[in-house]
Amino acid sequence: MNHPFQNGATPWKHWAAWACMAWLAGCAAPSSPSSSPAAASAPSPIAKVAGSVDISRQALAAKDGWAAAEGGTRGGADAAPEHVFDVRNRNELVAALERAGQQPKIVRIHGTIDLSVDDANRPLGEADYRDPAFDFAAFVKAYDPATWGKKPPEGPLEEARKRSSSNQAKRVVVRVPSNTSLIGVGAHAHIIHGMLLLDKVDNVIVRNIHFADAYDYFPEWDPKDNAHGEWNSEYDTVSLRGATHVWVDHCTFSDGNRPDPTAQVALGRRMQHHDGLLDITQQSNYVTVSYNHFKDHDKTNLVGSSDSQKLDEGKLKVSFHHNLWENTKERSPRVRYGQVHLYNNLYVADTSAVYPHGYSIGVGFNSRIYAQNNVWETQGGVLDTRLTRLWKGSTFFDQGSLHNGRAVDLLAGLRAANPGASVAGDVGWLPVLHGPLEPASEVSRSVRAQAG
Ligand code: CA
Ligand code: CA
Repeated sequence: MNHPFQNGATPWKHWAAWACMAWLAGCAAPSSPSSSPAAASAPSPIAKVAGSVDISRQALAAKDGWAAAEGGTRGGADAAPEHVFDVRNRNELVAALERAGQQPKIVRIHGTIDLSVDDANRPLGEADYRDPAFDFAAFVKAYDPATWGKKPPEGPLEEARKRSSSNQAKRVVVRVPSNTSLIGVGAHAHIIHGMLLLDKVDNVIVRNIHFADAYDYFPEWDPKDNAHGEWNSEYDTVSLRGATHVWVDHCTFSDGNRPDPTAQVALGRRMQHHDGLLDITQQSNYVTVSYNHFKDHDKTNLVGSSDSQKLDEGKLKVSFHHNLWENTKERSPRVRYGQVHLYNNLYVADTSAVYPHGYSIGVGFNSRIYAQNNVWETQGGVLDTRLTRLWKGSTFFDQGSLHNGRAVDLLAGLRAANPGASVAGDVGWLPVLHGPLEPASEVSRSVRAQAG
């Protein structure tokens, strides 16, 4: 297979220099100033690491995945000095995002930003959002399938749940406008208890932030989801809906310290208080997801929300590379429609983890996944056939995968697990926007050293 990636040495050398300086103590410094990305922009008083480079004005490198297509992704790299903001709480974050409007802006995150707070930055919880007419015990009594049946909840208690949910959403959902770079400063920048929403925006960079626990206090009961009904949540830690040119890089995502597997059981099902970690839906396009650490979560990365989203055809072009999926149960990612390039990622999974491994790559309706040199390190008897799962997909390309050090043919596994289905190995496209592929034997070391 020919991969016409060329001329990537310069940006990738810069990249390696930055990664080295930022993440690997004791790494040698770049040999000359010209090999540092800092040379391209004025030094900042708030560098990622004191004396090191400031990443906040970096744009996505040429050819670094799908977000490099069609003009590339610069985020707020060209922000005027008055549109560079340092924020330390929710109010400052929201104000900074609004103040510059559509103009290029850099928002630097310091410390932990809790999105579930009032205007005085005091924490808000379930009791603060709950509508006076909402009563959880009454809710589960009213909509018990044994008496209510399988029709969707309706009536005063469901209306009260929706109002409660809306109260929470008004606080915890923060909209990110176009032409924005959101950059964590140092090793401890967190955004917790809410969702960043990139809704029909273009040109956004999100880097070096720990996202945790986008907790929904008022999950919806869907009696028709699966055989017994399910609780479903509203919030992803980061959600792309109709968003284009987005680069999510060196971030960490998890449920924090409220894992769904320890949630209470109601209506016979364990409640779910979290939805995705990073979901990419509703005609989002040109997205690069690189060097992130996704961990301890159930439904991790949804690419395409429904088979019925016909407008997703030709969109949802996403590259995932050098990500670490660690103890994620499923959807790492699950893809519909998209031309998704998945290369040099590391999966760490265990069937007896708090989030036991279900499957990794979901091959969904009209998906065209091109997978190369991905690596699985698993415990507890994860079968080769569970590294993928067929969800009405009909094509899948895979090359160079390793499972516990053995070469594994994911397409053969997919076919073996679905003998009645026809799955072609030709996905009809060839990735051209990517960095040099690392051999699978290098991926575990490389990703562990750099992701997150
Ligand atoms: Ca980080
Ligand atoms: Ca979602």
